[in-house]
Amino acid sequence: MYFDYTATTPVDNDVLDMYVKVQKEFFANTESMHYLGKRSNSLFEKAKREIKETLKSEHEVILTHNATEANNIAIFGCVKEKIGKIITTKIEHPSVFEVFKELEKRGYDVVYLDVDENGIIDINQLKEEMNKDVLLVSIMWVNNITGAIEPIKEVINILKDYKKAKLHVDGVQGLCKIEMDFDINDIDFFTFSAHKFFGPKGVGGLLYKKEIVLGKHIFGSNVQNGLKPGTVDLAGSVAACKALKIYMKTIKERYEYVNSLRNRLVNGIRNIEKIVFNSNEKCSPYIFNISFIGRNGETIIHTLEEKEIYVSTGSACSSKLKKPEKTILAISGNEDRALSSIRVSLCHLTTLNEVDSLIKAIKEI
Ligand code: PMP
Repeated sequence: MYFDYTATTPVDNDVLDMYVKVQKEFFANTESMHYLGKRSNSLFEKAKREIKETLKSEHEVILTHNATEANNIAIFGCVKEKIGKIITTKIEHPSVFEVFKELEKRGYDVVYLDVDENGIIDINQLKEEMNKDVLLVSIMWVNNITGAIEPIKEVINILKDYKKAKLHVDGVQGLCKIEMDFDINDIDFFTFSAHKFFGPKGVGGLLYKKEIVLGKHIFGSNVQNGLKPGTVDLAGSVAACKALKIYMKTIKERYEYVNSLRNRLVNGIRNIEKIVFNSNEKCSPYIFNISFIGRNGETIIHTLEEKEIYVSTGSACSSKLKKPEKTILAISGNEDRALSSIRVSLCHLTTLNEVDSLIKAIKEI
């Protein structure tokens, strides 16, 4: 029983068929000048056009190896000035957080915004920290540990008064799962990852405003505006586009079903002593985080594993470090809670029986 869809999703069958077809039939390099190269290139251009159309975006799009790479290209590429103020949150995914830590080492003045007990940024703190010298603000759409949904629309409104400040939004856990209540065209940089919405692993994306000239971070050819040089992964790009088109269409139905699963889980474990909820009903229903006070999150994971139930402690990229979970620490200030948390991820493939088995297993523990 797989409850780790936040870490990654299985690839959709139609998406995989498309991947195989393009890999076989369009193997020519998109940069080759002959007929086969041009044919590959026009398929790549079509995929990019359709990604933009599906997201109602007027931005440039580049396809990367994953969202980690897209976040790095956007953030490093944006801060071209040697010094300045940049703002993010205490709960970003490592692919953003660690970039800010690196920039801090290089001398940038970094502000890490606090979050409240629901994982929501302090909007007044953001207002106070803004000034005409701020270069970049990076705030995730949906937190990957608790599912907290950040007020991106309000952030956009605040930043409108500051022409120099660019806005980067890590959209990885929101895209294809919850409806966008903001205009993507108001965001300077928006990143996504195909393997989070039933696309293939190995494809991420960065949408950015056309007028922005990003500094280079990887050096090579001029492919993809020179920002992501190297031979294009055409099959991955076309398959990612297909996944996006399929899963953007079905957000509403899937959301309602997943929400009902989340409510069933909540009701099933609500009264268990020593279990604390780190997610609430305002969070994305795809992610539900709980702490087993006095226990170690990793032990809980292995106990569940014995019953063939697979959950995780948090970001797969940092879960092997055995440190208190950063987001849980930020929302609670409680180290015990942050060491004893597990993340349950749901999706439209999760069945009621699976949720009931999980409830039973948690009660036993
Ligand atoms: N941002 C968030 C919010 C994520 O959850 C993840 C994946 N754990 C990433 C970025 C990185 O995505 P990728 O695996 O494509 O590098």
